[in-house]
Order: sequence, then structure tokens, then C-alpha cells
Amino acid sequence: MEVVRVKGNDFRFETPHAVLKWAVEKYRDKVALASSFGAEDVVLIDMLSKISPGARVFTIDTGRLPEETYNTMDEIKNRYDIRLEVYFPDSDLIEDMVEKHGFNLFRKSIELRELCCEVRKVKPLNRVLSGLDAWICGLRREQSVTRMCIENVEFEKRVIGGNPREIVKLNPLIDWSEDQVWNYIIENEVPYNALHDRGYPSIGCDPCTRAVKPGEDVRAGRWWWEPSDKKECGLHCKRQ
Ligand code: SF4
Repeated sequence: MEVVRVKGNDFRFETPHAVLKWAVEKYRDKVALASSFGAEDVVLIDMLSKISPGARVFTIDTGRLPEETYNTMDEIKNRYDIRLEVYFPDSDLIEDMVEKHGFNLFRKSIELRELCCEVRKVKPLNRVLSGLDAWICGLRREQSVTRMCIENVEFEKRVIGGNPREIVKLNPLIDWSEDQVWNYIIENEVPYNALHDRGYPSIGCDPCTRAVKPGEDVRAGRWWWEPSDKKECGLHCKRQ
């Protein structure tokens, strides 16, 4: 899988609402929000469902998610008028990977961790993206050094199944601070993952996420055994 930013952009939107409204008007059924049900994602679900009831939201169930994330999914599904689509990894690929490298291969090397992310996350994501013209993400620039590269509107070229494809990626919360995210959640009484109250600012798969200490980087709890500038799964920025 290859992801490259093919150009920067001059898009300027006043608010996340403006980005979302523009996206649903322009792309209609060919745009969907990618959600792992973290704090930023639930904010966007709340906004999007108000702008466009019945909007498409998709998630990838890697098979290794924490119970709290499934609880959040059910709560969000019951509360909002959205079309929630759940995608799973290819079971043949999982069986092959586990047979060759074991269940917890991600602890053995960065390469095997990336293989696990590729099989459990990136390949299912590409399956979804092959049917979309645009996708919406909850990335914020201040989340980590690996996310300094992002823009509010990006034009990605992905090689999916050997075929190059251009797709628009929207990051409506790009300039928001963590405080803005939490103020929105509280003011709008948005359901959120209970792990956030237990020191988890960023939540991914259960074995690859831990709580962080006060003052630590928000992504310090993701793949904490790896160097800090390598912490991406390939969904957004490639590791350097
Ligand atoms: S986050 Fe961990 S368990 Fe999840 S896909 Fe990546 S390596 Fe595998």
C-alpha cells in the first residue's frame, strides 16, 4: 500500500461544520467518516449526524479492540441517526499471519507490528476507500510529531489492489486543541469511550494501547515499546 500527498491545498474553512457541510454537499453518498470512536471521532459523529442525518460512518473491527470501544460503538449507534458500517479483516490473511508469526507478533519487531496493522487495519480500510471519493478523519495536528504533515483537505494517491487511486481526505478538527474537543463533548453530552477517563488519550487495539502519565505525549500510550517518531499504523501518515 502506498499513500502520498500529491499536492498541498488552499482550502480554508472557518469551522469543522463548514468542512463537513461542504463534504456532504459535494460528495453525498461517496463520503464517509472513519471512526475508531475516540474523542475526536465522537465529536465529528455528533456534528455530522446533525448536518446530514443518516450519514455514512465506518469503522474497522481489527478483532483486538478493547471492550470499552465496543460499548462506545453500541452507545453511539443507539443515540445517533447514522449509517454505521463495520468492516473486518480478511480471515484467511489473519489465519496465515498468526500461524507464521503468533498472536502477539507486534511485540517482536516494528516490521511485524506493521504487518499486523496492514492485515488488520490498512487492507480493510482500502476495501472501504475503494468505494468512496472522500473520507473524513478526526486527526488533529497537535496529536504527535508524525501528524504535523496533515492539512484540512488532502488529496491522497493510494495504490489499492495494484491500482493507483486518488481520494480526498478531510480533517475538520485539524486546528482544534484537546480542550476544544473535550469542551464540545461535555457541552453536547456526547457519549465517549470510558478509557479516556482512565488515562487513555488515544485508543487503538487493546494490546497496543496503554494509559499515559500526566505530561506525557498524547500518543505515548500507543506502541509504547517503539521509538516515538515511528508511531503510525499506516492509515494516515507513513512512518519515516
Ligand atoms: S494496533 Fe496492534 S493489534 Fe492492532 S492491528 Fe496494529 S499491531 Fe495489530
